This record gives sequence, structure tokens and C-alpha cells, in this order.
Amino acid sequence: MKYYFHIFGCQMNEADAEVLAGFLVSMGYSRAESESEADIILLITCCVREHAESRVYGKLGELARLKQLKPSLVVGISGCMPQQADVAESLRVKFPYLDLIFGTHNLPDFPRLLEEAQAHGGQVLEVVEEGEVRENLPRVRQIGLKAWVSIMYGCNNYCTYCIVPYVRGRERSRLPEAILAEIRELTEQGCLEVTLLGQNVNSYGRGLAPQLRVDFADLLAAVDKVPGMQRVRFMTSHPRDFSDKLIETVFNSSSVCEHFHLPVQSGSNQVLARMNRGYTRETYLELVHKLRAAIPHAAITTDIIVGFPGETEQDFSETLDLVREVAFDSVFAFAYSARSGTPAADFAPQLPKAEKSLRLKQLIDTANAIALVRNQKLADKVVEVLVEGPSKTNPDRLTGRTRTNKLVHLDSEPDLVGKLLDVRITRVQTFSMLGERTGVER
Ligand code: SF4
Repeated sequence: MKYYFHIFGCQMNEADAEVLAGFLVSMGYSRAESESEADIILLITCCVREHAESRVYGKLGELARLKQLKPSLVVGISGCMPQQADVAESLRVKFPYLDLIFGTHNLPDFPRLLEEAQAHGGQVLEVVEEGEVRENLPRVRQIGLKAWVSIMYGCNNYCTYCIVPYVRGRERSRLPEAILAEIRELTEQGCLEVTLLGQNVNSYGRGLAPQLRVDFADLLAAVDKVPGMQRVRFMTSHPRDFSDKLIETVFNSSSVCEHFHLPVQSGSNQVLARMNRGYTRETYLELVHKLRAAIPHAAITTDIIVGFPGETEQDFSETLDLVREVAFDSVFAFAYSARSGTPAADFAPQLPKAEKSLRLKQLIDTANAIALVRNQKLADKVVEVLVEGPSKTNPDRLTGRTRTNKLVHLDSEPDLVGKLLDVRITRVQTFSMLGERTGVER
């Protein structure tokens, strides 16, 4: 018996897929190489943007044909889409061949739900509203050089455009010892880089027993001491909760990488207030200045939404100004897409699609020009690169990343994968660089 997954969206869904695979393997299943060999197909879905949802609906349409050809096939859907009760119900009605519909908080119940679907036939739908942190669930993890480790789940921030708090629930932090044990195990299995993951890692620890007295900076300091872990990254940081203690911890650590992903979302205070982001343009810039003062060579990247309801030309130009002032190493830019169930979906005026596309293009052009200038500062410099594997576009090259998370290609040589090398940057582009090893291996 074999399973096949379609995973949409963020690393949280990748982590959920590892647990679902863990359950299936413990039940005797193995991974199928393609849909056609599978006995179970699961869609692990995302609803953060309209595009992700459209892809899920497209895939569900395709699976109808497969189910017709193979009626014993079990088709299930999980993740953030069915966590919304109205969406779960509409999936049930619109796609009668779906055997299993369950939400993000039902993950631990998967074996029972699958058994019910197989035993009784017909559709099984179960969505609960809140979940708890559950340790020791079985898990199939592709152990490589890099791994993601969830340190917390959910979010309490309720940004007005975001569906996450409604589908991932309130913030829950894992216990520090469980996180550290997972990281120790990863290093024993050869992992060299770990990314600590949460919707807002900077609020890690709130809600844990007060006697633990642990916050994100404390956790990071403890992870830095795990022997053998070469690189530690974290995402996502909410700018409002980025403490001075955290800056100091990064500064004093040896493995925590000098890359900060700090989603600003807009450069206009009016828009930030309507987004309920909890900081202003001024406090964001102050944080950037503190980071640059403490760690001048750090890379700072961001997320920006353009065309938020009511965003004026003036608001947008303030965003462009902020992008120029900060000089981000990279900007992940998105056009606002209304998510039903979030307050901003009812805000007025919603901007025309053409206007949002225009602003998006302007932002991307501005950000890319700045990214190139930022990268040019590394020309002819020697940087540490963790070699990750062959280049996806050129088999004669290897690719790796700097501590600041920049992509570097270098000529292929045997036995370099998994090595930390000193590399001289020889050519710089907007999204990547070329380099040559200096002969020094760390
Ligand atoms: S911080 Fe805001 S944008 Fe991020 S997950 Fe929470 S609600 Fe969504």
C-alpha cells in the first residue's frame, strides 16, 4: 500500500506532511513515486493566498478522473483550507469523491479518521477548533544537511489580512527540552543547519509555565550551544517583538546566521495601523538601524503586500521610500488578495487588480535593483558557503548559501557537498552569485 502527497504553502505544511507520512509508514504504507501507484492521495493545503487555493481546486478536479479509474483510491484533504468550517463543508458537497476531510488540529487523529473512511466508505469530515502541542508523533523526515524545526504553532496577532490565526489557532510553544532534543538528534544524523520555525518566533515562550522563564533569545542561546550544529536560522520574526536581548544573543552566538527576515508589509503608518501590525514605520526603521549597528554585514529581507484596501498612491510611495531607505537584500512582494473570514476582506475600497499589478511591478523593479547593489558589496570578497548540492540548472555546478542566505554557485568538484568552504565571489547577479573556492575548508 502506498501514499502520495500534494503539499501546498509553507513549511508548516511540510512539517505536517512529515507527521502524516510517519503515521502511514507505521501503518505499513510506503511512499509512492507517482499518483498512479498510490492507494492514498492526500492534499495538504494552504489558504493564505488565492493562488494556492486555486491550485488545490485544480488538483481536486484532476483527481476526480483518477478516482473514477481506481475507485479503491482514498483521496483526502487536510491543512488550512478545511480548517475553516464553511470551506470544509463546501469541499464535502462540491467534491463528493473526497473520502477524508480534516483540519490542521486533527493531525493526531489521522489514523482513526483513515480507518473510519476505509471501514465505512462515504465521507469522513472532522474539524476541531483548537489544538494542543503534541510531542512524539511518528515522523518521516528526509534527513539532509538542513532541517526545519517547529518551535511553536499558531499566532495571536490577528493581522487584518491574514487567515493564519483562524486556521492554525492560538499561539502554543513547544517545551525547550523537546526542541533541543530534536536538534541534538538532527546533528547526530548529519544535519548541519536548522531553521527554527513559527508564525512569530519572537513571542516564543509566552504561555509556557512561568518557572521555565524562557523566551526566544534564551532558546536561541541554548540551540547555539548544541555541539555540531553549524548554522541556526529562524523565521518568521514579527518586528514588534524583536527585542534588544535577541539582537545581543545573535551577536554573541557563533552558529546563529546573520540574516533577519523582518516582514514590514507596508511603509505607510496608515496602512500598518489598518493591517493591525502593531508597529510604525519609525519603530521598524529604528529596529533596522539597531540591527545594522550591531551586525553591519547582516542581510535583512522582508515581505510586502501592495494594494492593501485603501492604499493610496501616497501610501505606496512611502513603501517604496522605505524599501530604498532600508536597502533590503531581498523583498518578497505580493499583491493583496482578500481572504474571506478576515477583517480586511470587508475593508473599502478594494483596489482594482490592474492597479495592484502595476504597483507590484514597480516594487519588484525597485527591490531588485537594490538587491543587485547589495550583492555587489560582496564582489571579490571571501564568504563562508555551505555547499548543498548540484545546481538545479547546471549539473556542472554546485550551489550553496552564505550565512546571510545568499545563493552561490561554484564549479563542481567531488566530495564538496556538506562542506563549509571559503569562497571568493567572482560574479554578482540579482538573485545569485558565482564564486570559486579559495582552497580553505572550515
Ligand atoms: S503575525 Fe500576522 S501575518 Fe503573521 S501569521 Fe500572525 S496574523 Fe498572520
